[in-house]
Amino acid sequence: MKAFDSTQLYFNRAADQIDLTESMRCLLLVPKREVQVQVAIERDDGEVATYIGYRVQHDDARGPMKGGLRFHPDVDMDEIRSLAALMTWKTAVVDLPYGGAKGGMAIDPKQFSRRELELLTRRFVDGIHDLVGPDVDIPAPDMGTNADVMAWFMNQYAKYHGFSPACVTGKPVELFGLPGREEATGRGVGILTYKLLGRIGRKPGDTRVAIQGFGNVGSHTAKFLGEAGYRLVAVSDASGGFYRADGLNVPALLRYALDHNGSLTGFAEADAISNAELLALDVDVLIPAALGGVITAQNAKAVRAGIIVEAANAPIYPDADDVLQERGAIILPDILANAGGVTASYFEWVQNRQHYRWDLNRVRQELDRVLTNSFESVWELAATRNISLRAAAYVLGIGRVRRATELAGVC
Ligand code: GLU
Repeated sequence: MKAFDSTQLYFNRAADQIDLTESMRCLLLVPKREVQVQVAIERDDGEVATYIGYRVQHDDARGPMKGGLRFHPDVDMDEIRSLAALMTWKTAVVDLPYGGAKGGMAIDPKQFSRRELELLTRRFVDGIHDLVGPDVDIPAPDMGTNADVMAWFMNQYAKYHGFSPACVTGKPVELFGLPGREEATGRGVGILTYKLLGRIGRKPGDTRVAIQGFGNVGSHTAKFLGEAGYRLVAVSDASGGFYRADGLNVPALLRYALDHNGSLTGFAEADAISNAELLALDVDVLIPAALGGVITAQNAKAVRAGIIVEAANAPIYPDADDVLQERGAIILPDILANAGGVTASYFEWVQNRQHYRWDLNRVRQELDRVLTNSFESVWELAATRNISLRAAAYVLGIGRVRRATELAGVC
């Protein structure tokens, strides 16, 4: 199943719940604008190489469109379209004054030098600068991009439009960025996992957790849950998985990744397992925090965790979701579970617009408040309607976008 089809399926299931008309479904699903631009650079060996940059602006009924820029070989228009729609529902679920967007390029950033990445970013901005901006569409980091990319983005945008740090979020803290933005997605996953487990009466000490992915999101989730006393028994990254039944030493893992350019390859204080084995482990909580589409109809039956927290965007296909729901698994959906990132992006945007600096304590406190309120709303709605947390999150998000659309008027 293609990425957008799967997002559309989740959308339609929730739309059935609230009797959304066909015309409103169409209005809310079809992206407002999709662009594809040429990004040509001279590589370090002197060759000119040409790439495609994508940006999909899905919906702006609730405010300027917001969403990351992804540098990953799997990027294509369909995936970006799907991720842009997820951003619309995500910003609505956590009630930020934003719509949804997403962009990216089909490249493996590891194959490019720093100079080349800077050029790619600047040429991409050249192609889209007049379609984005602080009141229109605000990019941010996503898979394969980071604060450096956002700094280049801001600098290139300024060449056309003058000083406007709010044109992009996830910037370096020293360059108009927000303390706590980098940790926010993983920290948010941790906060929400903690809330969910508390709701169903699970104690940290006897809760075994496995996290797939040890990038920005996975590592910060591990840090938060480790500090909260949960037993992290397995993690993995692109090089494979690491398992320890009595619990991994989280500070040692974090230190190892820091010393090895983000990679866990060679970490010796654990047994080696494959990524597929990690998904099938007998754990209480499974947190896919890497790529989309990792739990499919083929491997869903092997997944044994009772609770799955979607730290990644779209890690579970709808047919796999059916299998998991049928056996009673509780799934915290991506549009809530990983919303901490865009929530902190919102704080950064507010900070930039007010030229007033936030400190880390304030960021953490407000992040906790926004995510806790959103969790409670979704939980209540799921209980009242007797639907899954995913359906409830969609119902809440779609309902808010529909309301804004109707109030603004469509004629
Ligand atoms: N890329 C992140 C996401 O998927 C963050 C987006 C943002 O901060 O705008 O939610």
